[in-house]
Amino acid sequence: MPLLLCFGPETAGSINPVALKAIVDHVHQYHPVTTPVPTVQYAVAISLPQSVCQSTSLHDLQKHLPVAELQEMKSKLETGFLYEGEHIVAAKPDKSDTRSLHSEWLMLCLDQNGVSPVSRLLDKVRSQTKCQVTRALEEWFGSNRYTRWFPNNQCGWNGCFVFFSYFAPCLGTCLSLKDDHRIQQLMDGIFGAIDEDRRALAFKEVFLQDRGRGKQFVWNSWQTLCKVPMYQCDDKGCQSCEEKDVNKNSCLTAVKN
Ligand SMILES: [Zn+2]
Repeated sequence: MPLLLCFGPETAGSINPVALKAIVDHVHQYHPVTTPVPTVQYAVAISLPQSVCQSTSLHDLQKHLPVAELQEMKSKLETGFLYEGEHIVAAKPDKSDTRSLHSEWLMLCLDQNGVSPVSRLLDKVRSQTKCQVTRALEEWFGSNRYTRWFPNNQCGWNGCFVFFSYFAPCLGTCLSLKDDHRIQQLMDGIFGAIDEDRRALAFKEVFLQDRGRGKQFVWNSWQTLCKVPMYQCDDKGCQSCEEKDVNKNSCLTAVKN
């Protein structure tokens, strides 16, 4: 079995959890509502200026993540599977074929040009035209277009990036080590390009089927998302999931041992 290990000193900084909560709440007000089959799972990727991930001003948030765009996202997801806006990309699972495609996969998978909806979103706000853009590698799970973040990189992607999924990425497909639709490398390519203070993956609940897999196994699987600081955001606020002692980790409360 291939091993995915994260090397090196990880995240020194982190996103402001109060600002993260405000961002998640703002988006979730416009979650898709469908009948007779209700939509629970959906995911969004949001690109914001750095300042918005530090402040908790609703005015700032509405300016950079306009309500009109969120309403458009909501109505698009109520009939379709993917929405690509100026500041946000969103998807719900596509169950129309024999094999269902998870929201995360729909947003991160590369087309024949090596571009994904999420990388297209980041390109929209990438202003440094003088900097060389590295092309996606040919391999299916290759890196995306972005060079790794490092301090004072003039050619880096200098924004704030939040990925919110109602359910945490599932262990059976998204975080599997061998599934064709696993997302670790695709997500790493995006998150690795972003300043560690300004990136987060937020979720509301652990996926139902994963709650019986044991706290340690779920936590270990989350660690395969090397560059992705995870947070659970619920009514109490956003809590980091980095705690190594799985019995003390609040993100794993719903998971049985
Ligand atoms: Zn999944």
